Amino acid sequence: MSPGAAPAPTDADAGTGRPGAAAVAGAVAAARRAQPAWEALGFAGRKRVLDAWRVLILRRADELADLIGRETGKTPDDARLEVVLVADHLRWAAAHAARVLRRRRVPAGMLMVNQSATLAYRPLGVIGVIGPWNYPAFIPIGPVSAALAGGNTVVLKPSELTPATGRWLAATLAEAAPGQDLLQVVAGDGDTGAELCRSGVDKISFTGSSATGRKVMAACAETLTPVVIEGGGKDAMVVAADADLEAAADAAVWAAMSNAGQTCVGLERVYVVREAAERFLELVTAKAAALRTGDRPDADLGPIVLPRQVEVIRGHVRDALARGARALLGGEHSFAPPYVAPVVLADVPEDSTALTQETFGPVLVVNTVGSVEEAVELVNAGSYGLGASVFTRDRAAGRSVAGRLRAGMVSVNAVIAFAGIPALPFGGVGDSGFGRVHGADGLREFTRTQAVTSQLFRPPLRPTSFSRTPGTMRALVRMMRAVHGRR
Ligand code: NAD
Repeated sequence: MSPGAAPAPTDADAGTGRPGAAAVAGAVAAARRAQPAWEALGFAGRKRVLDAWRVLILRRADELADLIGRETGKTPDDARLEVVLVADHLRWAAAHAARVLRRRRVPAGMLMVNQSATLAYRPLGVIGVIGPWNYPAFIPIGPVSAALAGGNTVVLKPSELTPATGRWLAATLAEAAPGQDLLQVVAGDGDTGAELCRSGVDKISFTGSSATGRKVMAACAETLTPVVIEGGGKDAMVVAADADLEAAADAAVWAAMSNAGQTCVGLERVYVVREAAERFLELVTAKAAALRTGDRPDADLGPIVLPRQVEVIRGHVRDALARGARALLGGEHSFAPPYVAPVVLADVPEDSTALTQETFGPVLVVNTVGSVEEAVELVNAGSYGLGASVFTRDRAAGRSVAGRLRAGMVSVNAVIAFAGIPALPFGGVGDSGFGRVHGADGLREFTRTQAVTSQLFRPPLRPTSFSRTPGTMRALVRMMRAVHGRR
């Protein structure tokens, strides 16, 4: 399907009047039937299957990259980057699930010294994954790989703009694990997604806009289905006076303009301290001006995929200019739908929509501040809290600034580096959502923690029995005082 084309028809509603109902119910039932055998395979058995799937994906990397390119309009290099990330995250989840999730002993403590205490992370059952269109393979593979590695089966509802990529992932897994029904795909639009929320799956992992995330959470509340919400972002960069400005500008332009700005952790705002501002702006403007946009084989920026998004981007640019912002590159003339060429704006008022809302296009706002402290305050004033970055030659100072930023992920002297490290959890705070995919936290996200105690011997004191005496309890208090009564 070409970018922006009409969505594929939804699956039949089987007379319920609810689009996608029959397909969702059938897929969830099949996934539920398949789950016990998959769980019984154990970590090593599941790793073998997931490794075989990864090898197959890499063998057909060109095919997947072509498909992603066709469905999203992204450039071949952006599509290849997505495929590489898919393979690495899948490898990590398969390799580390046993270490993170296997049963382990924990100290029982003085009061329960007669008990052996263990905890385990059990699969939840069937996980529903609702994906966005902008990274149609990389984004779903996070929750899909973690859920599968933990012993769950999965029903994926890809974006209506990218159903073929979702189906490709399921078909290649079916080839690696014939007849096992580990990953079902239900195609359809938001109605089908809503149906999945109410289908009785054991958890929903949603990635998309924060507005849709609110609807997903409301639907899940009806059945008390737990959710992970990976919402939108308004990522910021802080540039200190001592930063390597060439590196910071290069990173800023890539983070803002790659995938034509349609990245949840895309850079949308930079706060640069006054001493560095002039040179940084010169570099950013020159680098962004050199990018090629449009329907050409050597393009750096492809189309804006959702036609309505072009108007959102235009609205943000207009609003900023009307409020006195300076256009250092581009402006009204950058719009030739479905393409938008890079726009760089400076001195944008903090209450303009280009700074308060997700733009999701190739528009970079660069505002000058008096200090790094002021930059931190402005970054943290936003409602989103997904990713951020800091550029400074003082790495210790960079880490200190990172710690003060209200963001789920921060890169120092790099951009979006966290997304390429499968061991790091991915997710945000505030309007960017909650819960994590990737890393150990992402593996645990699709499990239920179970605590088990097993009595080793009869305790000398029995405080939790009606046979206890006042003497038992006094002895217990004395013991507690003796061991923990001093600092
Ligand atoms: P979207 O919110 O329009 O759609 C996302 C998914 O939700 C689609 O599959 C859609 O069919 C489904 N959906 C729509 N209405 C629904 C409903 N009522 N119930 C259940 N499902 C429903 O988002 P999009 O345009 O596909 O993607 C772009 C957005 O996603 C941007 O805001 C971007 O920042 C965000 N995003 C976030 C992350 C992250 O990890 N935080 C990653 C990629 C994209």
